[in-house]
Amino acid sequence: MKMQKIKKLLSYYKPYKKDLFLDLFCSVIDSVSVTIFPVLVRYLTDDVINFEKDKAFQSLGMVALVALGLFFIIFLCQRYTEYQGIMLSTKVETDIKTELFEHFQKQDFSFFDEQKVGKLMSYITTDAYNLTTFIKEVPETLLDFIIRLSGAGIVLFLASPLFGAITFGILFIILCVAVRYVPKMQREIENARIIYSDLTSDLEESISGIKTVQAFTNEDLEISKFKDDMKIYLQTNDRQNKIKGTLMAVTEPILIGLIPITTIVAMFFILRGDFSMNDLLVFMLYADILIAPIFNVLALISGFNEGSVGFKRIFNILSIDSEIKNSKDAIKLEKVKGNIKFKDVSFIYKSGRKIFENLNLEIKAGEYVALVGPSGAGKSTLCNLIPRFYDVNKGEILIDDVPVKKIELKNLRKNIGFVRQDVVLFSGTIADNIRYGKLDATNEEIIQAAKDAYAHDFILDFEKGYNTYIGGRGARLSGGQKQRIAIARAFLKNSPILIFDEATSSLDNESEKFIQKSMEKLAKDRTTIVIAHRLSTIRNAKKILVLSGGNIAEEGTHEELLSKNGIYADLYNMQFSKNNSV
Ligand code: ATP
Repeated sequence: MKMQKIKKLLSYYKPYKKDLFLDLFCSVIDSVSVTIFPVLVRYLTDDVINFEKDKAFQSLGMVALVALGLFFIIFLCQRYTEYQGIMLSTKVETDIKTELFEHFQKQDFSFFDEQKVGKLMSYITTDAYNLTTFIKEVPETLLDFIIRLSGAGIVLFLASPLFGAITFGILFIILCVAVRYVPKMQREIENARIIYSDLTSDLEESISGIKTVQAFTNEDLEISKFKDDMKIYLQTNDRQNKIKGTLMAVTEPILIGLIPITTIVAMFFILRGDFSMNDLLVFMLYADILIAPIFNVLALISGFNEGSVGFKRIFNILSIDSEIKNSKDAIKLEKVKGNIKFKDVSFIYKSGRKIFENLNLEIKAGEYVALVGPSGAGKSTLCNLIPRFYDVNKGEILIDDVPVKKIELKNLRKNIGFVRQDVVLFSGTIADNIRYGKLDATNEEIIQAAKDAYAHDFILDFEKGYNTYIGGRGARLSGGQKQRIAIARAFLKNSPILIFDEATSSLDNESEKFIQKSMEKLAKDRTTIVIAHRLSTIRNAKKILVLSGGNIAEEGTHEELLSKNGIYADLYNMQFSKNNSV
């Protein structure tokens, strides 16, 4: 597992090996250049001071030139690491985000039943960002630290082994203290990430449900829930910052005190004649060079924790493999007739809810079948099993006598058109949304589909017609209009099997008539399954299946089922008396 993780982490660098090499190379040159300055100072104060006047001025000029050259090299290196290096991490960030997005797109319905949208979004926003920062900062900062530490170490030990030992002793203590905080911080950061993603998901639910919130005048409730979430956010930050604060409180004074303390000790040795002022000056310059990267390493510890937590979370979510995949010997159906068979099908949701046991059912090619039954009987579930949105636990579903598990997934789903009650439209124009049914559709095809779905007239009523922007989730359209766009999409998709899942349930009579007409037009020569709550809408269906108790309890035409006086008759009479009493 550890090896797998390391491989995964390295794989993010792979496409950018050259960029990373250059970034690290510049970082090394930058660090080396910085450590040369004190050597120059030492040369001036130790050697040049004793030269003859002319030679001394000449050497001073040379040192100034070298210093200038070093400044220029540092400038070039900084420019590269601060621009290309940051672009490198942005490229890696976009790769990780794309990988996550592609991964989510391939997941099955069960995955989305278990994961909240806000949580998934926080992987792409926060975790991917933290991981990328970690990927760029860790090698750069560590390399800088190691080079400055070894450069300074060599010179310091050469100047005075005692001072070298004191300085490195202090640095060692600081690093030991800092490292001790790593697991503690990691735990807190991991908790915090779980809490933040819960908060994001609550926020997403509350904002996307704002119309319901306002309709129930529950704004105060939502604000109070949000305030509670913010309290948790504060507490989480409090714990995290306490650890960070303690770490900084312990290490910062030691670092700040490094120069004054060692100067006092150095003065003691200088007074005894064992150490020179020049040695002290060089020591101070090196101590100064060392302090900045130590602060960077300390800052990196929290960045490291955030990045490693981000990596762990991303690695875990990427390890979830969709259970619904193409089988090895998957085939493509060329011309689907649309015969659907359920053979001894049993299905249980992951939550443990058992829906079907040994369900047998046949819908012949071209048949128009209505599926009715009490709420929660499993009508939608049954339809979701056909395109393999969920896989059956036992038995099999066949299309034209081929088990759906043997049909290539894309091919299977291309052959099934779905129109649901909760139509999902995307922000964009009306034309874009109809085109969703067939991405390469021409404008003429889009208009024809809209005409077939009785949508053309209302579309032209908008000032910009087909180019009208419909807002997020089609907010600027009525329920009936959205439904007709969904049907236009299905016309474009032109699949031999059609499923209408309560497509007319939430519509008024006027819209329902339009949808009914367009549904019937669309259903012509296709196998059609219609789930309907309002039984009046399926009275004319040649075959009505009544689903109850996890199986087909009754089957027949409207009249036949009424005369049976069973579940269908009960459902129908209940609706009839309800409608009459309204
Ligand atoms: P309705 O007519 O009210 O839409 P339905 O007959 O279409 O109901 P389904 O939506 O198929 O019924 O649901 C059947 C049962 O499965 C219900 O009890 C429901 O709570 C449960 N169920 C539906 N979706 C899931 C899911 N994703 N995970 C777990 N249980 C689910």
